[in-house]
Amino acid sequence: MIAILGAMEEEVAPLLKTLGDYKEVKHANNTFYLANFKGKELVIAYSKIGKVNAALTATVMIEKFGATKLLFTGVAGALNENLKIGDMLYASSLVQHDLDITAFGHPYGYVPGTSIFMKSDVNLNALAAKIAKTKGINLLEGVIATGDQFVCNGERKEWIKTTFKADATEMEGASVALVCESLGVPFFILRAISDEAGGGAEFDFDEFLQSSANISADFVLSMVEEL
Ligand code: SAH
Repeated sequence: MIAILGAMEEEVAPLLKTLGDYKEVKHANNTFYLANFKGKELVIAYSKIGKVNAALTATVMIEKFGATKLLFTGVAGALNENLKIGDMLYASSLVQHDLDITAFGHPYGYVPGTSIFMKSDVNLNALAAKIAKTKGINLLEGVIATGDQFVCNGERKEWIKTTFKADATEMEGASVALVCESLGVPFFILRAISDEAGGGAEFDFDEFLQSSANISADFVLSMVEEL
């Protein structure tokens, strides 16, 4: 069973549209879509925005629906100036930028018993790089910084970028990484850029959400074919 997770309806609707035929199961205040794509069993859901919603949904996909691999699809704000709207990157590692017990002398993103950065699955990343190369798609690899905050402010953007050497920011990836790492499930986090996370990012976001979400969803489905 392969899980495909997004945060918002707009990120998952393109998948459901392509699949056409699926079964809906209600659980934990959410809807899970079960489908078969080219012989592969899929469980698909959008978690709703933010780290806690995403962690809950990823856990349900693994523990209840038996997912053994998880692919995340969605949009993100760019921190790296080489990333433009519509470009894609996958996370090589992820960090929670809003986790802060620095008052006790710990670094940002760290709590005892964890590591600051979580690494995604090298095999899934390599598969993505191979597919991108074959299709002539420019796919970057980088650090994704996650927090319960829509970043639309130059100062906060710079802080996240320099503190974690991060390339993009969003609101779910690191929590999904933590769940998958803890439960031993290989995961892949893909994001297409919807905005540049500076002042006025909310206007770009509204304009480019759907086109960028489509780009990411298409790519993730092309990966499923090869799994
Ligand atoms: N317009 C939505 C809210 C979107 S929040 C509403 O009103 O309901 C932004 C979503 O896109 C999150 O799921 C997050 O993961 C991603 N995202 C895109 N750009 C982002 C940015 N600049 N900062 C944080 N998250 C961003």
